[in-house]
Amino acid sequence: MKEYDVIVVGSGAGGSTVARELTRKGKKVLLLERGGRVNMMGNTLTMALILKYFGLTRSVEKNTVVFADNYGGLSNLTAGCAACPPKIVFDPVGIDLSEEAEEARQEMHVQQLPDNLVGKSNIRLLEAAHDAGFAWDKMENFIDPEKCIEDCGQCMLGCRTGAKWTARVFGDEAVANGAELKLHTRVNEVITENGKAVGVIASRFGKKTRYHARSVVLSAGTGNVGILRNAGIKEAGQGFCCDWLQFAGGIIPDINSVKANPMSVGTLAHYESDGLVVLPVFPNWSQFAVLLGMTGMKNLAVFPDFWKYTGLMVKIRDDSAGEIYSDTSFSKPVTKTDQKKLDKGVGIIKKVLKRAGAADDSFIALKPSGAHPSATCRINDVVDQNLETRISNLYCCDSSVFPSSLGLPVVWTAVSLGKRLANYMDGRLR
Ligand SMILES: Cc1cc2nc3c(=O)[nH]c(=O)nc-3n(C[C@H](O)[C@H](O)[C@H](O)COP(=O)(O)OP(=O)(O)OC[C@H]3O[C@@H](n4cnc5c(N)ncnc54)[C@H](O)[C@@H]3O)c2cc1C
Repeated sequence: MKEYDVIVVGSGAGGSTVARELTRKGKKVLLLERGGRVNMMGNTLTMALILKYFGLTRSVEKNTVVFADNYGGLSNLTAGCAACPPKIVFDPVGIDLSEEAEEARQEMHVQQLPDNLVGKSNIRLLEAAHDAGFAWDKMENFIDPEKCIEDCGQCMLGCRTGAKWTARVFGDEAVANGAELKLHTRVNEVITENGKAVGVIASRFGKKTRYHARSVVLSAGTGNVGILRNAGIKEAGQGFCCDWLQFAGGIIPDINSVKANPMSVGTLAHYESDGLVVLPVFPNWSQFAVLLGMTGMKNLAVFPDFWKYTGLMVKIRDDSAGEIYSDTSFSKPVTKTDQKKLDKGVGIIKKVLKRAGAADDSFIALKPSGAHPSATCRINDVVDQNLETRISNLYCCDSSVFPSSLGLPVVWTAVSLGKRLANYMDGRLR
């Protein structure tokens, strides 16, 4: 029977980083991913793939949250916007990710884009925000400007040029360094012996297989919950965050969001004080139609104007609330505090749009949705500061371990946590 040093379950930003770092340290790694390698096409046809491989799932309260089922996880869908791991979230649990974040900055091409790639619409919004008295700046991105193209703006439908960093970059590097990658392989159970994790049971096309290793890292996002509950860790998935976001838009003469580079400008100035950020980004026309319909069928009359709209998003640090159930259904209410933060953000957006020339009667706000399922296996609740569960040699490493809502782009933080865990495990495995 083949034995690995480490089995990593899930190939998103957290899992691919752990796998890559450990192979760089000479470890024998097996990376198991339930999805396949479905490539996104960078156009509207991709929406069909998104609905199939990144379920826009609805909570019992009928709020939508996105989950991944694909090699590279949710990183395939990002706008490429980079936010450094926030101290406000990690200081309370005694974790400093600054060294790991700095290392990741170099490897992921984190930088501001030049004005020609930021584009005319975003520059106009930046100027309007300044005129309205808000502290806006260019955002950092994990996008290689050498490969990025002007007036594309399709990052969230799949980057056609490979300019945007995704977890597949690190996953493929792990494989080149000797890791074994098994796609279409869903892990259901952890094998334990004398209170220690020694492997996993996974199913692939209906066939169950046991894989053995000295340590197991669960990086399956919300998928961690079912696996941990099967292992007796019932508190996993009780309360979670998704960084509720709300899109709002208006019609400004001469500009629109259709080809604007998403989230390449914006503001983090309200983050620490109000728990919210405001960034220009708007859904694709087909997502817009769905989200518009959810605000009431009569509002679909606005749809033909989609190509005239300029849109922005407020994203908040939401309350930990609801639950992921063992059958993967979930509850996730928008709490009163969440709603207050969203309303405040929508108010800021309205001021910026108005300053940029939008008429009041063109203003629309869509329903809140969640794109960052996280904090299901929180540090100090489900894992300790080394990300180990109470089952020895069983770790979690991805956005599920966040101690509270990030309310910011997630990827840079998940990568930093992956680097930190790999360093710790390297010491333990020696
Ligand atoms: C539209 C959109 C735009 C976004 N834009 C940005 C952005 O600009 N910047 C940013 O930083 N973040 C962005 N995010 C958020 C970010 O993409 C995710 O929060 C982050 O990638 C999550 O990484 P993760 O490693 O925690 O988990 P995931 O990406 O969820 O990875 C989990 C992996 O585990 C696999 N898996 C699950 N269960 C099992 C199982 N039982 N067995 C085996 N495999 C399993 C899944 O298929 C998946 O590949 C965006 C998200 C969305 C939806």
